[in-house]
Amino acid sequence: MRRFQHYIDGKFEDGTQSFESLDPATGTAWAEMPEAREADVDRAVTAAHKALHAGAWPAMTATARGKLIYRLADLVASNAAKLAELETRDTGKIIRETSAQIAYVAEYYRYYAGLADKIEGSHLAIDKPDMDVWLRREPVGVVAAVVPWNSQLFLAAVKIGPALAAGCTLVVKASEDGPAPLLEFARLVHEAGFPAGVVNVLTGFGQTCGAALTRHPKVAHIAFTGGPETARQVVRNSAENLASTSLELGGKSPFIVFADADLESAANAQVAGIFAATGQSCVAGSRLLVEASVKDRFLAILKAKAEAVKIGSPLDMATEVGPLCTNRQRELIGEIVARSVAAGAELVTGGHLPATPGFYYPPTIIDCTKVKAPSVERELFGPVLSVLSFTSEEEALALANETPFGLASGLFTQNLTRAHRMIKRIHAGVVWVNTYRAVSPIAPFGGYGQSGHGREGGLAAALDFTRTKTVWLRTSDEPIPDPFVMR
Ligand code: NAD
Repeated sequence: MRRFQHYIDGKFEDGTQSFESLDPATGTAWAEMPEAREADVDRAVTAAHKALHAGAWPAMTATARGKLIYRLADLVASNAAKLAELETRDTGKIIRETSAQIAYVAEYYRYYAGLADKIEGSHLAIDKPDMDVWLRREPVGVVAAVVPWNSQLFLAAVKIGPALAAGCTLVVKASEDGPAPLLEFARLVHEAGFPAGVVNVLTGFGQTCGAALTRHPKVAHIAFTGGPETARQVVRNSAENLASTSLELGGKSPFIVFADADLESAANAQVAGIFAATGQSCVAGSRLLVEASVKDRFLAILKAKAEAVKIGSPLDMATEVGPLCTNRQRELIGEIVARSVAAGAELVTGGHLPATPGFYYPPTIIDCTKVKAPSVERELFGPVLSVLSFTSEEEALALANETPFGLASGLFTQNLTRAHRMIKRIHAGVVWVNTYRAVSPIAPFGGYGQSGHGREGGLAAALDFTRTKTVWLRTSDEPIPDPFVMR
């Protein structure tokens, strides 16, 4: 079995305990992972705190910091194939996606490498003639970056990149499900030459490792991606250290198709939106809202595409849908689909557990136009599409916004004026028009409502890892006037 280690204070080490990681394609253990407990977490945060305040990192110019991040980007690019294979092995996400995604992760580091020396303070036009006043932008402090198992390298890059650009230090907690790629990534951080303690990478379970990290007194900011229930616990933990938080949470994103849309293209986007990554995507377009007049035609195109999907080994480049990451997720999906069907929803395709080994679940479409099925409300994090229909723009909007989430949305229409009206009124942090599941380091990403707050990607994300210091400098040589009057 392969063995992985933590990366703490510039050294690779075993955890207090260890646990086995399962290969989702077979359901058998393939690697031994280190498990961090409170003492390991404390050492990692202490190392990050020390690296923030003393030694090479705080003495480095922003340009030099940027060069280190560029070096890391190059190493991610040249090791993308190896990292992709590890991620596929440990999480079951298909190699076709992991290899493309991890190569693109390097671009996120490049974006933030270039930004490092463009984070600027400002000079204030102060209303006192004998004062010079300016704002310095300083790193917010030690960052706890907590990520889920899907797209770990990507979700870590959108935290590590801007945090390093801003001059912060980090403790990154990989998910206990499929941590291999992130633990391996730590070797690239080491090779890039970051001073010890600047980036620490560990893994462990939520209640022991995650909780100890997010309430640690030396943590100043928590950048969290995961489910809304866990986010509530994280925010409660932050009551201990009063750390600021940014939360990237789940979704139940609407995928809205009007009758005038290019149906063939919209169906391809819907396949990308719900079956790509086996539906294990926070932005999964899991609620199809289709105009009633084209519902049957659109569902026929989609059904044909869903049934043509190639299901197989995630390590095979030809595979389009692989296993889910965990069996508990597969069981939850199976249960909610069964409850939805029992409530009167109709299976268009899929919906049955295959008898093969591994955590597979087939592409599934459920017509929920006649009943309020549980699959419409619950984030399933799997390849399950719930179908609703509408007859007017107002009804489409009401259905789109009928959820406490607000992460992403897709809008398919050739009517430009309608598109503009809808864009303004859809309650979501991302609106994709005539496309779906597109991301870029240049474009901020994040949710409304129970999909969280804060934005990742883009310029502003780097500023979220800074805080301002207001400096007052008196320019007069005269003695301070009346000390009993506030200036
Ligand atoms: P999860 O919430 O169960 O776990 C996320 C991370 O939090 C893990 O590392 C876990 O160990 C840790 N954790 C658990 N309990 C904790 C605690 N008490 N304190 C601190 N940390 C704790 O999520 P998951 O099942 O791994 O991932 C799926 C969820 O993530 C879905 O809801 C999905 O939508 C969401 N997600 C969101 C985005 C986004 O950018 N908005 C991206 C990917 C995934």
